[in-house]
Amino acid sequence: MSDKGQKLRAIPGMDIVLEYEWVQSWLERLGRMRVKRIINNELTQIRRSILDGDSEFSPDTFKASCLDALASASRPSLRRVINATGVVIHTNLGRSLIAPEAVSAMSETASCYSNLEYDLKAGSRGQRNSHVEDMLCSLTGAEASLVVNNNAGAVMLALSALSKGSEVVVSRGELVEIGGSFRIPDIMELSGATLHEVGTTNRTHLFDYERAINESTTMLMKIHPSNFRIEGFTSSPERKELARLAHEKNLIFMEDAGSGLLVDTEIIGLPANTGEISIRACLESGADIVTFSGDKILGGPQIGGIVGKKKFVDRLKKYPLARALRCDKVTLAGFEATLRLYSQGRFDDIPTLRMIRADNDGMRLQAESLASTLRERVKAEIRVVETDDATGGGSCPEIKLKGWGVSLRHESYGAGYVQKLLRGLDVPILCGARDDEIVIHVRTLQSGDAESIAESLEGVFHA
Ligand SMILES: *Cc1c(COP(=O)(O)O)cnc(C)c1O
Repeated sequence: MSDKGQKLRAIPGMDIVLEYEWVQSWLERLGRMRVKRIINNELTQIRRSILDGDSEFSPDTFKASCLDALASASRPSLRRVINATGVVIHTNLGRSLIAPEAVSAMSETASCYSNLEYDLKAGSRGQRNSHVEDMLCSLTGAEASLVVNNNAGAVMLALSALSKGSEVVVSRGELVEIGGSFRIPDIMELSGATLHEVGTTNRTHLFDYERAINESTTMLMKIHPSNFRIEGFTSSPERKELARLAHEKNLIFMEDAGSGLLVDTEIIGLPANTGEISIRACLESGADIVTFSGDKILGGPQIGGIVGKKKFVDRLKKYPLARALRCDKVTLAGFEATLRLYSQGRFDDIPTLRMIRADNDGMRLQAESLASTLRERVKAEIRVVETDDATGGGSCPEIKLKGWGVSLRHESYGAGYVQKLLRGLDVPILCGARDDEIVIHVRTLQSGDAESIAESLEGVFHA
């Protein structure tokens, strides 16, 4: 212990550290409180590792790790990365990119006063939802609509306002978990509705729903299995049959559609058999309420869309929880501008749709051009390769897309190590890997990314 005690005594106190020459410029840049907190953190770690093992205090290591921590504290924490994974709607990388026109609308609304809740014609109080309601209705064929913070909020609001204290019938094959924190049974419980599960994981029949209905049932609910597929011996009733059953029994038929497809699958070039269906088609099949995300396949900012019959949407609008889940003005501006692009049929101006629809030959040419730039600047084995891309996993239908990319194999660095180096860059690059090579997928690269990738790889591979 005395040995450890001696080692502990070698650690300088905070007051002394704060006087060090190399700390001074950081005091100005980050403020004294922040610097103290960071240094304290480092000191605590050193103390712990001395107590736990046989390490000792090294002034040089201490200085290096403090400088590292101080530098990273001075960078914005939330920052830009390059998505070279080929996954268009990447939940961990911020889902959809917002169209430039929507970004300008957001920027203007952020920095200027607006008629957010002001009716300019009447000269009196207005509704924030009014800016998007009509367009959302005409794009989906709905009678009424409402937008809230996100789809989890939309589902929660709808269940709570329409089915609190009563039973909601859901197929066991649709009790999904999305992104680890959205689980239908949990949301159901929180909303005050009681989940009545029917059928089995792979098969649920109309008669299962029929038998489950009792005097306390108010809703049949369908949930889109966004991030998984059960294959083989499966079956579930058609939407139309469910809607007919619900309406015969005077129940509400609600669907959580997940991704928010506003156009037919052919328009965005998805194969017809993906199981994806548009919001309009859900409503046409008889759904009374449909909810969806704004930042998945819709390609807009984070919102939760709710469309459907006016009498139900009106109940949601009046329900107090709606106030807690309301959208912020910047988001509303971005969503309105995104819907306008849909109204004008300008699908290629919506980055998510453009990347999903990307032309295969175009991607091959892009990959070839990146490969030849890299061959001039980087010492590695470089090939143009076909890639497996995806619309998005975890939060969106996992639809496989064929794409193109560039693979790099370094003679001594393994792929995992190169990926780690690329994550440590000022503008981190996230890419795929297979065997011992990294793969840059071109589908998700934005303008200028190829050039920064070439520059960064040159630095990394020569270092
Ligand atoms: C993504 C998803 C949600 C959650 O939506 P958020 O907008 O992330 O809140 C809910 N249900 C389904 C079916 C989904 O795919």
